[in-house]
Amino acid sequence: PSTSSGDAPVRSTDNDAAAARVSAVKQGYLLDPFAKHLVPRAHLLPLRPPLINIGTYVRTAAIDSLVDQWLELAEKASQTCQIISLGAGSDTRFWRIASGKLSDGLGTYVEVDFPEITTKKAMAIKKSKDLLTTLGDPSHVSLDQGGTALRSTRYHLLPLDLRVDPEDVLKSVLATPQPNGLNLVDPSKPTLLIFECVLAYMAPELSSRLLEWFVKWSQTSPCGILGCIVYEMFGLNDAFGRVMVNNLKERSITLPGAEAYSTIESLPGRFLNTGFTAARALTLKEIRKSYIPRSELDRIAGLEFLDETEELDLVLDHYAISWGLFFVNNEIAVKWGHW
Ligand code: SAM
Repeated sequence: PSTSSGDAPVRSTDNDAAAARVSAVKQGYLLDPFAKHLVPRAHLLPLRPPLINIGTYVRTAAIDSLVDQWLELAEKASQTCQIISLGAGSDTRFWRIASGKLSDGLGTYVEVDFPEITTKKAMAIKKSKDLLTTLGDPSHVSLDQGGTALRSTRYHLLPLDLRVDPEDVLKSVLATPQPNGLNLVDPSKPTLLIFECVLAYMAPELSSRLLEWFVKWSQTSPCGILGCIVYEMFGLNDAFGRVMVNNLKERSITLPGAEAYSTIESLPGRFLNTGFTAARALTLKEIRKSYIPRSELDRIAGLEFLDETEELDLVLDHYAISWGLFFVNNEIAVKWGHW
């Protein structure tokens, strides 16, 4: 199904996410020198309204904070960790980590998305000196699988439809030996999954099957630890939620994953019902109010004039970050994600 034109509307949501990121960077909310290289004619894109820029900032800052904590905990335990970003689209997180101060704690970084998206991204990477330099030794950077995949020392971009049976597909991609004889990822290393605005578009049974597969895979190691971060909309059955659903319906996009969670309290269930040990969820509204440092809030308040704070709260109250943790026997994991 990955090549079917029926998925084109869902794939097009990557353009929205990328355009929002470029806008937030241009307006000074985010520091991300890489975003523009992944978006054609980024300098010509219209800026997004302040409310969208603030939302993009809060979402990115919150996920960055959880990812940084994961890298720091792994580093303290003298381990490198693995990150797998599913439905990664035009995300730049790998480049930001690899060029930042926590780079040493990062081992393999894998991104997957539909082949149409990974082909575009692989070409953009090949064309950009800044993106290529961060990938390390250029002799280890190569296109693969007819240009739908890109491999390098640490970073791997792979075409994959997440709705396909994980036992068939993920197993062959992640858990079977690569040309160098090693598996792409190793269950004995701390592994972090990121689903940033992806599961909302998938049937909940299919995302559960994916999460269960990863928990079982981590269980194969006596010291397995798995973290998982999910960002998405929820609570779509009120008036504002219905407007969101209808707007996307006009673009032939449905939100079966988001419609399965009507309250913030229901979100940790996604993890606890699939074998995770612990889970938490916070709305972007709560994160902005209580978890973003005061100095940052003051800084972004000075960037643009926002007259509708009530509307901002309403929007941020329909988006959440939730995170789950599974561990067999590993001290470092217990400390993760307690903001
Ligand atoms: N995670 C990126 C970010 O936050 O910037 C992109 C988010 S975009 C809203 C959703 C992404 O999920 C798109 O790139 C889309 O192609 C991908 N996606 C949705 N369903 C998928 C599936 N079944 N298999 C692979 N990728 C999928």
